[in-house]
Amino acid sequence: MLPVNEFFETIQGEATFTGMPSTFVRLQGCDVGCPWCDTKYTWQVNPTYIDPLPIILKKTAASPTFASVSIDDLVRTLSALQSRHLVLTGGEPCMYDLTELSGRMIAEGWTVQVETSGTEPIRIDPRAWVTVSPKINMPGGKIFRGDAWKRANEIKMPIGKPADVETLLGLIRSHGPGLIWLQPLSMSKKATALCVEVARQYGWRISAQVHKFLDLR
Ligand code: SF4
Repeated sequence: MLPVNEFFETIQGEATFTGMPSTFVRLQGCDVGCPWCDTKYTWQVNPTYIDPLPIILKKTAASPTFASVSIDDLVRTLSALQSRHLVLTGGEPCMYDLTELSGRMIAEGWTVQVETSGTEPIRIDPRAWVTVSPKINMPGGKIFRGDAWKRANEIKMPIGKPADVETLLGLIRSHGPGLIWLQPLSMSKKATALCVEVARQYGWRISAQVHKFLDLR
C-alpha cells in the first residue's frame, strides 16, 4: 500500500523531461524539513486524514488528506489516464519501495520518473529515471546518501545563494560528475542571476519550471 496525497496530469516543467505530458502521483510523508518547502501538507502521515481513493482522485486543493492505495489499484487507476509519463513525487517518495509499481507501469509501456531528496534508499525499477534534488543540512537532520547520487540520472540542485553552489561543488568532488540542472530557488531574480552565472562557468544547465510560465501546476 502507498499513501497517495493526489494525482494530477500536467506538463513536466523541470529538467530533462521538460515539456513531457505527465501524470504526477504525490506520495504522503517527508521528514527532511526544508524551510522553503511548498508541500508542507505532505509531511505528516496522519491516519486520521485517510480518505477513500475516489475522494483523493477528485481532490483539487492542497491538503494533508491521502488514500492508502494498493499497487493493483494504483496501476488500474493510472491506466485510465492519458499522460503516460509517470512522475512519483512527494513528500519524499523514496520513503517507500517503488519497485513493483514502477516495474509494472514500465511493463505497461509507461516511462517512470521519481523525484527524491536523496535522503532515503532508492528502491525502484532499474529502468526508471531518477531525479535527485539534494537536500543538505535541513532541519530534519537527514543525511544525503552517496548511493542516491550514483543512481541519479540527473541532479536538480536548488540554488538560492553562493553557498549552495559550494555545496554542489563539494558533492561533485565527493561523488563524481553528473548531469547537473540548477533550480533557482523560488525563481527569484537573485537566484536566477546566480544560476546563469555559474551555469556559464561550469557548463551546467538551468531548470526553469516551465509549467509556471504556462500557468499550469
Ligand atoms: S524534501 Fe521535498 S517534500 Fe520534503 S521538505 Fe524538502 S522540499 Fe518538502
